[in-house]
Parts: sequence; structure tokens; C-alpha cells
Amino acid sequence: MERSESVPEPDRISPVYGSLKIAVPYFLLAGIWIAFSDSWVLLLFDNPEAITLVQTYKGLLFVVVTAFLLYLAFKTQIENYKDIVYRFSQNYIRLEKSNKKLIKAKEEIEKKVEELEKSKKIIYQQAFYDQLTGLPNRNMLLEDNSQHSPDNNEVLMLLDIDKFRIINDYYGFEIGDKFLIKLTDKLEEFFNGADAEIYRIVSDEFLVHHQGLNDLSEIEKLLEELQDFFSGFFEIEGHKIHFSYSIGIVRAGDSNYSTHKLLQKCETAMYQAKNNDYRNYEFHHPAMEEEIASYLKLDNDLRSALKLKEFELFYQPIFRASNGEIAKLEALIRWHKPGEGYIPPDKFIPFAEKTGLIFELDQRVFKEVCRHKKMWQRKGFKNFTISVNLSARQLDSSDFTKFVLNLIDKHEISSSNLELEITENAVMKNFDVSNKFLERMQKAGFPIALDDFGTGYSSLNYIMKLPISSIKIDRSFINNIEQDQQQYQIVYSIIELAKILGLEITVEGIETEKQKTLLQKQRVDYLQGFYLSPPVPADKGEQIFS
Ligand code: C2E
Ligand code: MG
Ligand code: MG
Repeated sequence: MERSESVPEPDRISPVYGSLKIAVPYFLLAGIWIAFSDSWVLLLFDNPEAITLVQTYKGLLFVVVTAFLLYLAFKTQIENYKDIVYRFSQNYIRLEKSNKKLIKAKEEIEKKVEELEKSKKIIYQQAFYDQLTGLPNRNMLLEDNSQHSPDNNEVLMLLDIDKFRIINDYYGFEIGDKFLIKLTDKLEEFFNGADAEIYRIVSDEFLVHHQGLNDLSEIEKLLEELQDFFSGFFEIEGHKIHFSYSIGIVRAGDSNYSTHKLLQKCETAMYQAKNNDYRNYEFHHPAMEEEIASYLKLDNDLRSALKLKEFELFYQPIFRASNGEIAKLEALIRWHKPGEGYIPPDKFIPFAEKTGLIFELDQRVFKEVCRHKKMWQRKGFKNFTISVNLSARQLDSSDFTKFVLNLIDKHEISSSNLELEITENAVMKNFDVSNKFLERMQKAGFPIALDDFGTGYSSLNYIMKLPISSIKIDRSFINNIEQDQQQYQIVYSIIELAKILGLEITVEGIETEKQKTLLQKQRVDYLQGFYLSPPVPADKGEQIFS
């Protein structure tokens, strides 16, 4: 390397200048030598022979010096040349190495770009497509249709499976997933050929973006056809899974809202559709927003009421018809709302069931019931049962049994002293699932009463399958029994039937002495009503016993 540094760069070497640098001094020195050496020879020698000899030596010396100078000149040039070649070869080797590195780096970069391209595709796939069904997802919907013009015939329909959670809980997630895949296939089959795109928004919510429906009647016709197309159940791995669904509809042409806003409106309409009795779809209309606002207010009020402990339990005694003793106490919840007094359960229980707040509320009720029961037991009032009303929503919850069993264990209460009241309508909403739940509770030792009996018009076939120990005849049957012979006959038939089925009978809503005696004659087991005792606050419970 060092050597090469003293060597001039090839482009700085000038062949003419380099050669002249040697030739010119040589020419001058040789000229001076020739010009002066002859004069000195003539000055020093006068003998012609000696002059000739000296001239010969002088010629020889000239040749030797010239040869030596030529040797030096060529040697320097050749060495320079050698160095340049050496340096070039070194540079070439380095260049070769760098080139190899460069090729390798290029290959690596190409590989990385390929991987990046693949990851980009995967990320895109995950961001814009649903992994389970392969359908485009919510992001894609929002990406695809960022604005809508008022003069088109776009319709957005949001379909949601009713109580899909139950399908998942009951059959397991694997079957739940297969259900959603089947639903996707069916929807694709139904909308095949139509100007429609299907998206999976979340879980069991699917959105159909249809661009070929001109008016209301076309939309309604399509929804009817869809209803017929789904036969009401899917057969998956040998299970016949029955299902229903609700659809919220927005006509994009009615507005120029963004897709995001339209989707929100679809959801609002879909939740409204879930409450409909006669049709499973609903069109969005502006009044829905106000309903939502009051819905949110009630939800907020209930949540803060839970935090502020504004709920209170009242107890209504249930008397043994034969001797008038108190056999049971029914726990009835009240909302003590500051400034408004006591709010009855009918005003907030159905709402809490819709929002899911009922789970917390029911848990609160059970905890209070156990606390009161233990307190009264300690004071010596042992021989009675507390009846607790169970919400319809609890009938499909899997961890409720565990919760109640832990609770009674902690409070040293026997399950036979805690009766569960469940309404006929609640059971009928999902008979198989409710029946399984009640069987579990019965096995754990809880007596089960069918509340508001007779109001659900349900088939006896079903009722006979339930693991119940008693029925509570609804007070609407009792109202007129004193005057109305037909009403009396109906109650009589119900009582006879229950006796045949081996069920105990409680009659609710006793408001007069005559009703009481008429039913005592019928030898029903228990009587409950304002005439005998209204519901009283827990702190007055002891007065009832004494
Ligand atoms: P229910 O289980 O059928 O309860 C009996 C209802 O009838 C009570 O109304 C009671 O106050 C009322 N009642 C009792 N005797 C008479 C009478 O002689 N005449 C009349 N007109 N009514 C009488 P309440 O407390 O307003 O409860 C209404 C419903 O709310 C209950 O019907 C029950 O289904 C539900 N509920 C009450 N407490 C709870 C609770 O803690 N959890 C749940 N999930 N539901 C509850
Ligand atoms: Mg009840
Ligand atoms: Mg009742």
C-alpha cells in the first residue's frame, strides 16, 4: 500500500512531459560533453595517436554513461508501471469483494422486499377481512363507502342473530363458529347475483350493502324472501340449531351521512327490531334517537342507584292456607329513588334485563336475601322459606348456580329454604336451555315455583317436563272469582290439574276475605295477597313473625 502512495496517479502521467524530462537534460549534457570534451582533449594531448585513443575511451565512457542513464530511466518507469499494475490489481480485488457484498446485499434487500410485500398482504387481509368467514369487515365497509349521495338507492341492512350468546354457551364456540360460517354461506347464496356486498361487522352482526332496491316495498319483499330462505334452523354436526334474527335498516338515499353514521343508525334500528313483536326488522327513523337518549338516562340512573345502594328488599308473607301460619316470605325489590319515593320493579326490571344490569341486580338481591335469612335464623325464626324471583336472563347463565351455592354455603343456609320463582313466560323464551338450568338448580336442592301461572298460555306438555315443585296462580285469575262463576271454574280446574301433577299451589293476589275462604275451600296450599299482608320492609320482617 505504502509503495503505491508514492506512485503517481495514471491520469497524472504525461507521456510527452515525462519523456522530455529525460531527453532534454540528456541532450544538453551530451551536447556540452561533446562540445567541451573535444577541446579539452586537444588542449591536453598533441599526439594524434593519443588523441584517437582518448577519443575512443571518451566514446566508450559516453556509451557507458548513456547506457547507465537509460538503465536508470527504464528502471524507474518500469517500477512505476509495476506499482500502478499492483495497485490496480489490489483495487480490483477490493472491487471484486465489494461487488460480491453488493450482490449479496441486493439479494437480501430483494428478499426483505418480498417479505414486506407478503406481510403487507397479510396485514391488509387482517385489517380489512374477517378471518373466520373471509367476508370483508367493518374497516372495509368504512373504507369502501366514505360518502353517500342522496339520489341513489343504497340500502344498508344490519342483521344480528338473537341471543347468539346462548348458542355459543350451549353448543360451544366451535359450533358457534360453524354456525357463523354457515350463515355466511347462506347469505352469500341468497344475495348471489344481486348488487349487494356482505360484511361481517362484529361477532354475529352482518351488514348487507344493497344498491339495487328502489323502494320500501322492494325492501320488504326481499326481507320476506330472506325469512323464507332461512328455514329457521341450521343443522350443524347433528345438532338442529334453531335461531331467529333481527334486522335494522337505513336507506342511505334518505341522507348524505357518512357510512359510519349510517352504521350507527342501522344498530339503533336493529335494537328496536329486537323489541318488535310482529316483525323482525325495523327502519331507522329520527324518533329513535330520542328513545336512545331516555334509554341511556335510565341505564345511567340504574347504575348509579346500584352504586348508591338505592335498592331495598321488601318481604311479603305467604301463608299456609290450612292454618294461617307464615310458611314463606317473597322477596320483592324496590327502588328507593330520592325525591320520587319507591319505584316498583315492573318499571325497571324489564329494562335491566335488556341492558344486562339484571345480573348485578339479581346478585345484590340474593346477597341481601341470604343476609336477612341468616339474621332471622339467628334470632330464632327458623322454619320458613324465602322465595326469590329469578329474571329470565339468569336462565341461560352458566355461572349463576355456582354463585348461589357459594353464597348459601357462606351464610349456612340450606338450599331447601330458598325457593326460586320463575315465570312461565321466561321459561318459554328458551325452553330447552331454561329446563337444563332449572334441573341443575333442582338437583342442588332448591325448590322451584312457576310464577304468574296461567298468563303464558303455554302447553301443558311443556310445563309437565319442568322440574318444578309448585305453581303460583296469577292474581288476574282471582280478581273476579267471587262474582264470575266461569272464572271460579277456571281456577278450580287449574287447582285440580296441579293436584293431579303433584304440584303445590300458591294463590297470589288475595284481596278479600271471601277470596280467602273460597280458596281455602279448594284446599290450595298457600295464600298471598294484600288482604293477608302487603310487602313490608326488611326491618319490619320480625314483626310479621311475632
Ligand atoms: P311477582 O313475583 O308475581 O310478585 C308479586 C307481585 O304482586 C308483587 O308486585 C306484589 O307486591 C304484588 N301483590 C301481592 N299481593 C297483591 C295483591 O293482593 N294485589 C295486587 N294487586 N298485587 C299484589 P311487585 O313487588 O310490584 O313485583 C312485580 C314483579 O316484579 C314481581 O311479580 C316479580 O316478577 C318482579 N320482581 C320483584 N322483585 C324482583 C326481584 O328481586 N328480582 C326479579 N328478577 N324480579 C322481581
Ligand atoms: Mg314472584
Ligand atoms: Mg306472580
